[in-house]
Amino acid sequence: MNAAIGSTRPAMDNGWADPESMIGQSGKMICPDLYIGIGLSGELQHMVGISGCRIMVAVNNDPKATIFEQVDFGIVDDCRQFIPLLTEKIRQHRSG
Ligand SMILES: Cc1cc2nc3c(=O)[nH]c(=O)nc-3n(C[C@H](O)[C@H](O)[C@H](O)COP(=O)(O)OP(=O)(O)OC[C@H]3O[C@@H](n4cnc5c(N)ncnc54)[C@H](O)[C@@H]3O)c2cc1C
Repeated sequence: MNAAIGSTRPAMDNGWADPESMIGQSGKMICPDLYIGIGLSGELQHMVGISGCRIMVAVNNDPKATIFEQVDFGIVDDCRQFIPLLTEKIRQHRSG
């Protein structure tokens, strides 16, 4: 997708993501055309950083996750199942 990758604070604190990539109150404010939040809860401190995004999508395995109240499209699934399917579809689309 040629997308930029952002992160939440726990991902940064655990060393999974570069501190520069953190989005939110203590990080970056972003405003892409499409934001896909994968496995994140939708806490205010993160969400303030994405308020300028045009279309927001969330993938979370908890149907009651707060993020679903704040996005345009919600996908209830385990991201380990969903993301490989999505990337495969994108590859097919790009090669076709
Ligand atoms: C003063 C202050 C400033 C802060 N500033 C920031 C900031 O700038 N940016 C920021 O991001 N945070 C910030 N935080 C932290 C913020 O409050 C939240 O703790 C943080 O955003 C939560 O990150 P998370 O959604 O990744 O983690 P969690 O809240 O732990 O959520 C993880 C989510 O992933 C879902 N999940 C788990 N496994 C799967 C799976 N296999 N498939 C799909 N979904 C799954 C769970 O259902 C859950 O909803 C700040 C906090 C404070 C106190």
